[in-house]
Amino acid sequence: MSLKISVIGTGYLGATHAACMAELGFDVIGVDIDAAKVAALSRGNLPFHEPGLPELLRKHVDSGRLRFTTDYAEIADWADIHFIGVGTPQRADGHGADLRFVDSAVHELTSRIRGSALIVGKSTVPVGTARRLRGIIDTEAHSEANIALAWNPEFLREGFAVADTMRPDRLVIGAEGGTAEALLREVYAVALAAETPLIVTDFETAELVKVAANAFLATKISFINSFAEVTETIGGDITTLADALGHDIRIGRKFLNAGVGFGGGCLPKDIRALQARVSELGLSHTMGYLAEVDEINLRRRERVVRLANSMLSDKLVGARIAVLGVTFKPDSDDVRDSPALDIAVRLFNAGADVLVYDPKGNNNAAERFPRLHYANDLPEAVAQADLVLLLTEWAEFKALVPADLEDVVAERRIIDGRNVLARGQWEDAGWEIVGMGQHHPP
Ligand code: NAD
Repeated sequence: MSLKISVIGTGYLGATHAACMAELGFDVIGVDIDAAKVAALSRGNLPFHEPGLPELLRKHVDSGRLRFTTDYAEIADWADIHFIGVGTPQRADGHGADLRFVDSAVHELTSRIRGSALIVGKSTVPVGTARRLRGIIDTEAHSEANIALAWNPEFLREGFAVADTMRPDRLVIGAEGGTAEALLREVYAVALAAETPLIVTDFETAELVKVAANAFLATKISFINSFAEVTETIGGDITTLADALGHDIRIGRKFLNAGVGFGGGCLPKDIRALQARVSELGLSHTMGYLAEVDEINLRRRERVVRLANSMLSDKLVGARIAVLGVTFKPDSDDVRDSPALDIAVRLFNAGADVLVYDPKGNNNAAERFPRLHYANDLPEAVAQADLVLLLTEWAEFKALVPADLEDVVAERRIIDGRNVLARGQWEDAGWEIVGMGQHHPP
């Protein structure tokens, strides 16, 4: 008989995981405390943007293989496996991860389960969390219950979430005892048959793999951006530098793009939570470099604001600025800790007349910053602009050529915050164009 699976937390991770589990043939119920989200998902409507996911969601809501609820009682003894994909945001009072949602999900489950079940954490958590949760489960579980625990960190990328879930580049399982591994081998049978590497390890290693991967990626981005600060001062071409470095197979070209820096719901909070956790362990010196990685990253935003002011000859106040892109990356509507949105807000706070356009992110940005002005399309955003800022590399923006803008802007000035435009072409058309890592005399 096919496994029954619950997925707790139906955000970017959970909704994707739930729909993909249904696609793999399992009976799935997604659980969330957000009743509006559950109502939308139950109608087959995805409340966020993720390519390919709306089709999968509708297919399996229609087939009856995928349902959603706010009620833990419906899933506690129904599912064989409970995946936990709730949020682990940065705490309001510091850099550590806020584990309230994970703790609450485990408590809600443990207090209801009477039979045998496997709880599998997918959320990104500080090392030591699974072992602590194991203790809570042992204390709170009903005497008739038999609850196994595993940690199976998720590596999906927003924008590629469905493909990454269906065909992960590796699977990591932190577990004690063979039950969890055997069940998860059944869940991931298709990927394993396709020879996806499987790493079965202990709780601590599984938790650390995820934060180590994010720490590495964040470091790689800040590494190249630290060189961008050098070329911005002395000259040199940051893209050529990255290309030349990337040919070294020990280094690789990916994540070496100078730009406005990293953001989103993972990298920034994960490197902060890692520092907070190692400090708790008395090891703050070990990860000191991550504070630098964070600082270099945040300096990129300030750099763009200063550059804008300098290109406007110190007349930022009242200048019409078109901001193209507010999501932290293309093909997502996620504006959590987005450098693009932060730059738009900083310019607005400095007195500029900012008009923002993002193909999918306007609504989420407007929820956070209702005072910013939002355009319905690109022509509206750039009309009469004194300066255009390209901050998220959506395909629509990467494809821009000078002729698209020159009759509508007030001044031919553009900052390429992602180094995606052909600079020479814009200069030939009479534009002042400045990219990241490019020397621009103040
Ligand atoms: P999200 O905010 O989109 O979704 C979290 C969901 O959990 C929300 O819908 C929220 O209502 C729900 N929730 C909170 N408490 C709950 C509870 N007690 N019971 C049921 N539902 C509850 O967050 P996300 O981006 O999906 O991230 C979730 C986790 O996955 C985080 O730990 C994140 O670091 C990790 N992760 C995210 C990604 C990504 O690309 N978004 C990738 C890998 C790992």
